[in-house]
Amino acid sequence: LVLALTVGATGCGSRGGTSESSGAAANPSDSLVGISMPTQTSERWIADGANVEKSLKDLGYKTDLQFANDDIPTQVSQIENMLTKGAKALIVAAIDGTTLTDVLAKAKEQNVKVIAYDRLINGTPNVDYYTTFDNYTVGVQQATSLLTGLGLVDASGKKVDGKGPFNIELFAGSPDDNNANFFWTGAMDTLKPYLDAGTLKVPSGQTKFEQAAILRWQAPVAQKRMEDIITSAYSSGTKLNGVLSPYDGLSIGIISALTSTGGYAKGSLPVVTGQDAEKGSVKSIVAGEQYSTIFKDTRQLGAQAVKMVDAVLKGQEPETNDTKTYDNKVKVVPAFLLKSVIITKDNYKKELIDSGYYKDSDVK
Ligand code: BGC
Repeated sequence: LVLALTVGATGCGSRGGTSESSGAAANPSDSLVGISMPTQTSERWIADGANVEKSLKDLGYKTDLQFANDDIPTQVSQIENMLTKGAKALIVAAIDGTTLTDVLAKAKEQNVKVIAYDRLINGTPNVDYYTTFDNYTVGVQQATSLLTGLGLVDASGKKVDGKGPFNIELFAGSPDDNNANFFWTGAMDTLKPYLDAGTLKVPSGQTKFEQAAILRWQAPVAQKRMEDIITSAYSSGTKLNGVLSPYDGLSIGIISALTSTGGYAKGSLPVVTGQDAEKGSVKSIVAGEQYSTIFKDTRQLGAQAVKMVDAVLKGQEPETNDTKTYDNKVKVVPAFLLKSVIITKDNYKKELIDSGYYKDSDVK
């Protein structure tokens, strides 16, 4: 049995005995796993890091959790450091999906397994598996909630005729984050029939991804863009009815611009969407300010990443449910996709409080 376990633990590697004799554990569950998260400026990544770390520790793994302050060289050097410390697997949520090629080549040389976490890592063969939410559907959900908030779609998802036209503005995420494109495409596919029919109008004329994108998902940049749009396209009293925002952090910046430069009262803001169900934004939803967000249960995502690591380190094939969508330009990375949920004032209790994700007092 001992022999079988030892073979199982090292059988998928090509390093042979040398590094095992340097103290690596025969039981894969004693291995070090590096967890590389992009930033602590958003609650979700802090929760992701904590969930992943705890679940790995519960299984006996050692962990090295690092946050990279949204700075690419910092993320690269943190990962290099994990490799130096002898990590056997990496769980990486990339800042820029294209900047990890060299460090992941090193990982490959050391037979380190790599799981892309939430964001796809592009342009390298050295990413083994990917777990995320169905990102296209997240975009569809964001646009659907915008339509529902405007009254163009009813609660059951049915189109309501005879309404509008409504003025909207569009925001997209960071262009170096592979997810941003999926969110945008899902949203724009959903809004297109309404834009084509003239039921929705974009008075700024800024309808291209490049115009709408906010590098590194920075709230102040979104706030500034919203202010500029209000000044240039809404100064003659044109009313803004809705804003497609792909992330709660941006929504906070957008709402600031709407209340300051836009002069909207907090109780009669345009319909503003979001993503991540961050506490501050759920509070804003409960208070009737932000209209919606998308809940991506980081507990589920963390658990899935940990299952993947545990399987690969034991020489097993992790479970995947999508082997077609996530082409990183070098390979199609086998993925496990989770489901996200639209949150509004109507269902936040059931989805976020009753599920134990937050306490009621967190969002009041
Ligand atoms: C994540 C989103 C998040 C965004 C900004 C994306 O990659 O999928 O959940 O809102 O990054 O942090």
